[in-house]
Amino acid sequence: PGVVDAVPVSKPFKLVGREFHPEPTVVRVGDVDIGAGAFTVMAGPCSVESEAQLMETAEAVLAAGARMLRGGAFKPRTSPYSFRGLGEEGLKLLARARERYGLPVVTEVMNIEDVGLVSEYADMLQIGARNMQNYGLLEMAGRTGRPVLLKRGLSSTIEEWLLAAEYILSQGNNDVVLCERGIRTYETYTRFTLDISAVPLARELSHLPVVVDPSQATGRWSLVAPMAAAALAAEADGLIVEVHPHPEHALSDGAQSLTPKNFAAMMARLRTLAEPLGRRI
Ligand code: PEP
Ligand code: MN
Repeated sequence: PGVVDAVPVSKPFKLVGREFHPEPTVVRVGDVDIGAGAFTVMAGPCSVESEAQLMETAEAVLAAGARMLRGGAFKPRTSPYSFRGLGEEGLKLLARARERYGLPVVTEVMNIEDVGLVSEYADMLQIGARNMQNYGLLEMAGRTGRPVLLKRGLSSTIEEWLLAAEYILSQGNNDVVLCERGIRTYETYTRFTLDISAVPLARELSHLPVVVDPSQATGRWSLVAPMAAAALAAEADGLIVEVHPHPEHALSDGAQSLTPKNFAAMMARLRTLAEPLGRRI
């Protein structure tokens, strides 16, 4: 009686938030530190398609300065008739590429029953945008102890995204990297709309590192390098970028994939921009 209003003073994401954990978290994946100040670039094909495609891409992205290799073996596709990935064969190829080029591997796990299998091969588990609110999958990924890359859901608010990360941390796993990958808006010239303001905001609200995926966000390769530069300027902790030796023949996301040459040009430009911005690639 007599209470007009109650104002909560603390955030709902207790473990993910800065309130009780003010210092930034550094997530170590293999020998790579994400969130320690440097701008960490993960790159590779949307999907692992063949040994030749993966090795050619891995060699090129390593030479251009990527520190981690991406590649999907289990692909969430809008149509069930599209290429859905090589499955375990793709995971084996990723492990072979890691052996050959020394790049830690990040790859998506789509189903709870595949978490064990994927964590046998991957250095970091990717939870895709479409699974951001698959709470059983989040908890299962949390229990593996593997670092997790958590994509923002297609239509998720920042609070929903941080609460999804909370599910992983609640299992005792603090090694989560948040990934802004664009959200659904009314715009159709781009595939999604990159919410660049989410980057400094998520870093303000949370101690977890935040990276940007300019490939899924735009759906157009010509926009990837400009959005990567925006991510660098917005204090993102890194990028995850799609690269394919022959984008016109890619089995998924060719239109947003950089050629190795364009990827190298983007990295050179980021290096030039990094210095005046006080960043390190
Ligand atoms: C991807 O990285 O290829 C992908 C499918 O990402 P998202 O879950 O962000 O759409
Ligand atoms: Mn993709």
